[in-house]
Amino acid sequence: MASNPFHFDTHDLPRRAGEMREFTLEIDDHEPLGFDIISIAKDEPIYVDLKLEAVAEGVLATATIETTAVGECIRCLDPVELPIDQSFQELFEYEIDYRQKKSSKKPIPESDEEGEEVRQMVGDIIDLEPSIRDAVILDLPIHPLCDPDCPGLCPECGIKWSLLPEDHAHATPDIRWAGLDGWKSKDA
Ligand SMILES: [Zn+2]
Ligand SMILES: [Zn+2]
Repeated sequence: MASNPFHFDTHDLPRRAGEMREFTLEIDDHEPLGFDIISIAKDEPIYVDLKLEAVAEGVLATATIETTAVGECIRCLDPVELPIDQSFQELFEYEIDYRQKKSSKKPIPESDEEGEEVRQMVGDIIDLEPSIRDAVILDLPIHPLCDPDCPGLCPECGIKWSLLPEDHAHATPDIRWAGLDGWKSKDA
């Protein structure tokens, strides 16, 4: 199994308080982040500028994240592309028993409980996924729009109002059949 692309090995950072290293990461092959309606697709690169500082109790990570979310306008269903630019700062604590078990290699947990206050390192590994996920999701709209003024679709023919003449109207509006058409086009 491929290693988790969000796991970062901090072995280049000496464990002396005050040490600092900077890294540029490109996370390529990852689970989609976000919601059904808009998300960072699994093959969309996530660029992370990562600054790691050794502090007494662990590693302080400061990161900026740049990527692109894609989704659908909730009014007209056009594709929506949204640049994401977010940052986070997170403390990853050293394993408590690190000094005693310096040579022991523990497996990396598959996933950790979300909402954990303090993140724990596993050996030299920090898991950036919860921090990146939280930062990215903050930036995602719950109701994506291609344009704040998107007029949406004509409820009768399903064509975009922006493509229709201003006086567009249906000659024989029959509410019942129009309703059925609406259902059909949503299923297609
Ligand atoms: Zn739209
Ligand atoms: Zn129409």
